[in-house]
Amino acid sequence: MLIVGLTGGIASGKSTVSRRLKEHYKITVIDADQIARDIVMPGESAYKKIVEHFQENIPDLLLNDKQLNRAALGQWVFGNADELKVLNGITHPSIRLQIFKSILLCYLKGYKMCVLDVPLLFEANLDAFCGITISVICTSELQIERLQSRNPGLSIEEVHNRLNSQMSLEDRIARSDYILENNASLAALYDQIDLLVTKITPTSMRTVLEYIP
Ligand code: ATP
Repeated sequence: MLIVGLTGGIASGKSTVSRRLKEHYKITVIDADQIARDIVMPGESAYKKIVEHFQENIPDLLLNDKQLNRAALGQWVFGNADELKVLNGITHPSIRLQIFKSILLCYLKGYKMCVLDVPLLFEANLDAFCGITISVICTSELQIERLQSRNPGLSIEEVHNRLNSQMSLEDRIARSDYILENNASLAALYDQIDLLVTKITPTSMRTVLEYIP
């Protein structure tokens, strides 16, 4: 089985690419953002640890239906490196474990390929067990434009903070096997995906099992 790592900067077009791979090519996509949301649902062990640690300082940590108030949590850890470390220390191991489980499930189902859609693929060194990596890139002007039209509530300061917290474009390109340039229309992006899909074959699989803790 080939594991394809898919990544890219904020609002670069990762979800657009992964949706296309899922819907048009029927490739299974493991979505790290979705996993990050799932592992903090009430009843999950990460949820309990987050409530235990943060409730004292964040009075509105829980919404009426007991779900985490992710906005309040985000606001609290933003600009507070120690608290962010605590939060990451709670969530990252659960996210990694769930990613491993999802990959194993694909493997056991006999899939030839799966796509790992992870915004911080390189930062978290998850590219180590990908056969190939693909980065979606676009100009920072387009990132800002797309981010603002998707999240109209974001201030320009927040937009710049998010952009500045990312790895540099040069580093991203250097670590990627393939690049999808998303500076034009969706049709132009889909053309590149079509070409790329013909190039990747399920032969470059590295074993997943050796990376399982
Ligand atoms: P994030 O990292 O924030 O989750 P992302 O990298 O997954 O973002 P998308 O959600 O795919 O990015 O795209 C960001 C926004 O830009 C979306 O609203 C999407 O519809 C739009 N978009 C993406 N590619 C194009 C394009 N080629 N032309 C026009 N709009 C686009």
